[in-house]
Amino acid sequence: MNDFHQNTHPSLLANNVFLRTNILFYDDSGQEPEESVKGLENYGYKLIIIKNSEELPHHAVKEEEVAVIIIRKRRSQKRILKLIATFSHYEDGAPIVLLTDDPSLESRVQALRAGVTICVLVPCDEIELVNLIEAKKKYEGFAKDEKKEAAFRVLLIEEDPAAISFYESVLNGRGIVTKHLQHWPDTLEVIGEFRPDVILMDHIISKIDAGELTKIIRMDTTYDSIPIIFLSNSDLMADRNFLMSCGGDELLTKPVTPRQLLATIETRTVRFRRIRAGMTRDSLTGLLDHRNLLKQLDAEIGRARRVQSELCYCMIDIDNFKRVNDTYSHSRGDQVLKVLAHLLMRRLRKSDTIGRYGGEEFGIILPSTSSENATQVVDNIRTSFAKIQFGTGKATFNVTFSGGLASLKDYTGGKELLEAVDQALYRAKHQGRNRIVVAKHHHG
Ligand code: GH3
Ligand code: MG
Ligand code: MG
Repeated sequence: MNDFHQNTHPSLLANNVFLRTNILFYDDSGQEPEESVKGLENYGYKLIIIKNSEELPHHAVKEEEVAVIIIRKRRSQKRILKLIATFSHYEDGAPIVLLTDDPSLESRVQALRAGVTICVLVPCDEIELVNLIEAKKKYEGFAKDEKKEAAFRVLLIEEDPAAISFYESVLNGRGIVTKHLQHWPDTLEVIGEFRPDVILMDHIISKIDAGELTKIIRMDTTYDSIPIIFLSNSDLMADRNFLMSCGGDELLTKPVTPRQLLATIETRTVRFRRIRAGMTRDSLTGLLDHRNLLKQLDAEIGRARRVQSELCYCMIDIDNFKRVNDTYSHSRGDQVLKVLAHLLMRRLRKSDTIGRYGGEEFGIILPSTSSENATQVVDNIRTSFAKIQFGTGKATFNVTFSGGLASLKDYTGGKELLEAVDQALYRAKHQGRNRIVVAKHHHG
């Protein structure tokens, strides 16, 4: 990690373009934006409001990439549609959402033809708008990090240097990260460190049978679903059947074309990641589940100790959530959980880990963050969350959460850290909820 991470959590930096998704909002009617539009700021979006078409060229700034364009069309503002071509010119690829009060199918068809991605009828629900933006938004600038992390990873178990360089050039050319295993006795360690999405294995390895090596990999339950693809000179059914029975997934017969190789690796990776995500994530919120959150905390603590950096852990718990369920229904309660999960994902950085610890409890790991910074980050999120309006019509309500936070440097281990956080959360509840309490340091 670099100093930038060490010193200031990115979401605290002014004009932070890393975590904020820019939304361009255009309305030249002279009227105020709807509450649901203004409310978007609470979710971590940055609104660039334009009230006049002359201002447009000034907003085509490159460093402020726009993920979504929202255009407000009032009744009888047909000319607005003519402007849409201009928008798509400035922001290539950003979806265009038309906020309109005209429900007619005819107007939707016109909008579609003008280049609108989706029409939304006002008044609209803020949460609905957020869901829609998330579903449609264009790949963002800040996701560069994510992209790096998301790069597919292939482990090559192959001895022929010519073959290695061929596979590596094909895969790397596509942005796939490769690692080449030198000595088969290191296999499990290399897998553990490199965490491949796919293992590409030559069916002939000196001193060990490819089938045996596969069986050994499969013995470790952590690795029993990694796709293993064999490269073979023979397409004899007997060989194929043997390798599959050892736990292989697919056999490619040499010579393998780049296209065949990429197609196989990419489809396998996508499926593997989907399965793995299903195993480690909570289905309601998409966050890490309890077990995997704690696993990650362990790993992050180990890492923080090794590189001597700070680490904070925070536990948040929704206030009086039972009452939300009882008063507004369980499904409204579920919606609150989803919104909070969503807000956390938007406002924390990529290297932070968020998990659903239990029902309405969330755990956040903030590596390389001082307790001052971590508290400020979580407290900002707390303030935003409290502003979000849930429900519709007359039955709107707000929800708050409390949090307990502690820094690893004040505790001897993960268990002590968790206990301290738990106690801090307990104190936050007792002091009246809707606040973050930092654990008191106990030195010596
Ligand atoms: P406190 O401010 O002290 O935390 O009060 P509370 O009501 O939030 O605390 P309590 O632990 O008594 O209640 C938690 C409630 O969370 C009880 C349970 O019905 C609800 N809950 C847990 N998981 C879910 C879920 O997945 N969906 C919904 N809708 N509710 C859930
Ligand atoms: Mg609770
Ligand atoms: Mg609670």
